[in-house]
Amino acid sequence: MRDASRNVVVVENPDGSGPFVFVCDHASNRIPEEYQSFGFAEDALQTHIAWDPGALAVARFLSAKLDAPLFWPDVSRLVIDCNRAPDASSLIVAESEGRPVRANRAVSEAERSRRLARIHTPYHAAIEACLARRQALRLPTALIAIHSFTPVYLGKPRPWQIGIVFGDDRRMSDLLIRGLQTEPALSVGINEPYSPADQVYYTVARHAGPLGLPAAMIEIRNDEIGDEVGQLSWADRLAKLLVVAEPQLVGASHAAA
Ligand SMILES: [Zn+2]
Repeated sequence: MRDASRNVVVVENPDGSGPFVFVCDHASNRIPEEYQSFGFAEDALQTHIAWDPGALAVARFLSAKLDAPLFWPDVSRLVIDCNRAPDASSLIVAESEGRPVRANRAVSEAERSRRLARIHTPYHAAIEACLARRQALRLPTALIAIHSFTPVYLGKPRPWQIGIVFGDDRRMSDLLIRGLQTEPALSVGINEPYSPADQVYYTVARHAGPLGLPAAMIEIRNDEIGDEVGQLSWADRLAKLLVVAEPQLVGASHAAA
């Protein structure tokens, strides 16, 4: 497939009628052709600073298991981070984990606006349109974001295999945390390794907040989902918890709507 013909916004199973919608903001480490002249470093593109390794595979298994729409931008977060507010300083990073991202050191206001218009805006518009359509059809919906995190950050090991990130609305996160905590071998991060204070809750807050949808952001440590066995096993575990949560949450939000 020619690069130019690849869509920047990917929607899988858009008409899935299960009660969940998945987003995977950091699914891809691709630098589309039109950004290659900026000189993104090849070695950085293979690391977690460019994308969330393993996250897309888990999101795809979940989308298939639960007949759910899945949205992801097919572009590296180093070009623009779709999980940041348009005015966030970390929307286009000039450094990540203490390392300079030279390709972004001199991004002009015009280039920033252009990346917003070509990637960030259509991605969020696609999610918005899907959620609006589901509301019109009165389809019960919960929004789930799938991410992965690096086992060691700035030299510090992270003990949690999984973290659940949430804001003021704890309906979904509490059920997921409780379900995960029934497995004694799991260390579950509660608003760890990130919390909304780190500006990482943009996509979920933007879309679930105004509609009052149950929602959570799931962060899986990327060494847990480095191969298909791990990806399937986490998708299975999460699908079971989501299926248990659904009648308690999604049905209730539907009834209240
Ligand atoms: Zn992420």
